[in-house]
Amino acid sequence: MATGGYRNGVQKPPNLRTSSSFKSKLPSSNARRSTPASLAAADSGCSFIAKIRLNLERFGLLLRILGGKMLLGCHVEEGRVRVAVRLRPQNAEELVADADFADCVELQPELKRLKLRKNNWDSDTYEFDEVLTEFASQKRVYEVVAKPVVESVLDGYNGTVMAYGQTGTGKTYTLGRLGDEDTSARLENFEKCPNSEVWFMQLYMETIQDLLNPANDNISIVEDQKTGDVSLPGATILEIRDQQSFVELLRLGEAHRIAANTKLNTESSRSHALLMVHVKRSVPGRDDEYPLETQNRSSLVGNLRPPMLRKGKLIVVDLAGSERIHKSGSEGHMLEEAKSINLSLSALGKCINALAENSSHVPVRDSKLTRLLKDSFGGTSRTSLVVTIGPSPRHRAETASTILFGQRAMKVENMLKIKEEFDYKSLSKRLEIEIDKLIAENERQQKVYENEIERIRLEAQKRVAEAERNYVEVLEEEKMKCQMDYMESIKKLEEKWTVNQQKHAMNGEVHIGAVNEEVAELKTMLQNETRLRKAAEEEIQKLKTQLLKFSKMELAGGSTDDLSLPEVLEEESRQKKKLEEEVRVLRSQLAQLSIEANQARSYPDSGNSGNPLVGLDCFTPLNHLRSREGSNGERASITNLHEQVGLQKILSLLESEDANVRIHAVKVVANLAAEEANQEKIVEAGGLTSLLMLLRRYEDETIRRIAAGAIANLAMNESNQELIMAQGGICLLAMTAADAEDPQTLRMVAGAIANLCGNDKLQTRLRSEGGIKALLGMVRCRHPDVLSQVARGIANFAKCESRASSQGTREGRSLLIEDGALPWIVQNANNEASLIRRHVELALCHLAQHEVNAKDMISGGALWELVRISRDCSREDIRALARRTLASSSTFQAEMRRLRIEV
Ligand code: ADP
Ligand code: MG
Repeated sequence: MATGGYRNGVQKPPNLRTSSSFKSKLPSSNARRSTPASLAAADSGCSFIAKIRLNLERFGLLLRILGGKMLLGCHVEEGRVRVAVRLRPQNAEELVADADFADCVELQPELKRLKLRKNNWDSDTYEFDEVLTEFASQKRVYEVVAKPVVESVLDGYNGTVMAYGQTGTGKTYTLGRLGDEDTSARLENFEKCPNSEVWFMQLYMETIQDLLNPANDNISIVEDQKTGDVSLPGATILEIRDQQSFVELLRLGEAHRIAANTKLNTESSRSHALLMVHVKRSVPGRDDEYPLETQNRSSLVGNLRPPMLRKGKLIVVDLAGSERIHKSGSEGHMLEEAKSINLSLSALGKCINALAENSSHVPVRDSKLTRLLKDSFGGTSRTSLVVTIGPSPRHRAETASTILFGQRAMKVENMLKIKEEFDYKSLSKRLEIEIDKLIAENERQQKVYENEIERIRLEAQKRVAEAERNYVEVLEEEKMKCQMDYMESIKKLEEKWTVNQQKHAMNGEVHIGAVNEEVAELKTMLQNETRLRKAAEEEIQKLKTQLLKFSKMELAGGSTDDLSLPEVLEEESRQKKKLEEEVRVLRSQLAQLSIEANQARSYPDSGNSGNPLVGLDCFTPLNHLRSREGSNGERASITNLHEQVGLQKILSLLESEDANVRIHAVKVVANLAAEEANQEKIVEAGGLTSLLMLLRRYEDETIRRIAAGAIANLAMNESNQELIMAQGGICLLAMTAADAEDPQTLRMVAGAIANLCGNDKLQTRLRSEGGIKALLGMVRCRHPDVLSQVARGIANFAKCESRASSQGTREGRSLLIEDGALPWIVQNANNEASLIRRHVELALCHLAQHEVNAKDMISGGALWELVRISRDCSREDIRALARRTLASSSTFQAEMRRLRIEV
């Protein structure tokens, strides 16, 4: 700022603080902050309206807080009045008049000194802040005198530039044309302040006249009681728009100045001219003084901080001439004028004297000039004074008094004050605009929101309607489908029922037919027997006749062969008795069959109860018991037959040429084999061998079926199992399994093998002779009875294996797995037939008990089935077994962990 600051020879210039220190400090930051709670609400994304309300609230709060602090900056620094002396060059007149005389002053600008000659040999030396010679340019004068003041004004200080001196010494020249060579330099600064206002007036004979409106010629001075600021309420105020308008304005004012001619200089004015410029300047952004969060928070309505405003006032005073009245040659009106001029001037001199001497009383109120310049001398203004002097020795006295005035003025200390204010007007204007914008935005968003709600509502309505429609359609379809399914099922059931009816009827017929056939067979056999008996009786008769003949012969002559005849007779009668017994048995059998045939005719629905083959079902003790109970009568008759005819004989009939006899015999054997008590006898009598032969020899399905059934029954007995194996029974059974087609045959074969599977000792052999493969092969027949036997066999086998493994008598992978049974097992683990399912479930549990099987079981999908069994199996013991098995296998555990399965 103080680029052109004076150097002072009289006393050290006061040490000015730099401009940066003038910056006003803002009120403590919390004065501007909103309450934390309200800010938190703003941050938490409250509604738009709430945000506006919050910001308005915040704004109100801010105004309340700052209400009492409108004037923010009020920094004080010392500022002595600076005084420069300027010497006017000799004018034409002086050149002539003073040609023979030396100038009365000598300037030493580099020393800032001026020497005033007393006489030819003596002079007084004075020091000034600046000594400007007759050669000093206007620009330089501006730089050193006015510029520091102007800059201070723009910074928010008051400033005064004043010219004092005798008329004709260049006051007006100096002030009016300061920087005239380049007007812009002088005025550009004001351009930066678009709101600058200008007063221009003159004080003439203690009257203030408006130079911007000369008609306004009696302006009164008003003093603010509080601040002491003086103002001129009646004066015209013009705004400076630009440099050009300022220049024109000054010219206009100049033109209005009363320029009264004096003897000394016709151009010089006898009035005091005062130009006042009020500058308002907003301080450029000082955001760094605000916490960042405060800035962010107020982003919605912009920054709530009011802009800072600096207000400076510049007074440029062109005083009237300071010469003595007599010298100016004024008369009459002029004299009055001179007095008035001097009244103001002398009052100014007195004030400056008082200030220079720190007098307690400064007679400011003595004149209008001193009242107007109250702030310029002894006030807050930065003041520069130019005292102008002429070179002529003729005006030595005036020059001396001017110099003394300047010297005294240099002693006046001012207290510079910067003035900063918050610009609430512009803030409130800006906020109003912001609020209008926000309200408009809110209304717009509200509308958008309402539209969106409406759209969503319509959309939802549409979707609901659509869903309802679809739902109704689906329901209707579902209903139709259910009805169709229902009809279909009813139809199927009816069909099934009819078929069953027919089947039953046919079964009855077939059965009756078979019984009839048997009856016919027995009849034939009975006839044969009867014939044989008759033949025997005839034979006996014949023999009796012969015996009589022999007796007569013996009586007549005697013979050596007498003893043999009674023996023969005895033999014959034994034979006869035997035959008679047989006939009796056959008769009773025939009677029995006739009864059964009648029963079958009367109860065709009672199914197999009359079928002798029912007994072959008894692969398990339960079945065995039931069948035994179910056909007690039949058994009794067969037992009778067996007792009467003899097992050997029945077995021999198995090899009879007559097919009917064979069938009948095999049936009888099968029934006998169903009785545990007979089994051993049958085997001892070679029945097993004969039965196996039948399997091998006959392609007749019935014989094979019954024979297999008989073998199956025999296979229930452990020692028989070994015999069956020993006699190659497994191969024969496997052969039958491979080529039989009748499900019942397969069922018998599977039952036989299944029984063998339950024998621990036969495991290896059974497998090596193709027993397991034979079992698995039979699953091609999907008959549940067959599958059930296969499953039972597998379960039996698995159980034996498991037992052997746990006893340590066997090692390695299950033979079932080796023979490829696992896929079928896994497939049927959840078979809908509960019997099959149970066997398979048990088989899986047994297999799983051995770690060697675990890997195959996992890869074969058996783990899933085991898990299912452990969870869902309806039999608690199997469920527990599965759980135990899974828990005890580390391989399964690891896999389950991997698959995140919990049991
Ligand atoms: P004042 O206002 O003090 O009565 P003026 O400014 O009217 O004096 O100056 C009187 C005359 O002197 C004018 O003609 C002016 O042009 C001339 N003058 C004053 N100072 C200078 C200067 N420094 N250089 C040249 N001419 C000057
Ligand atoms: Mg003048």
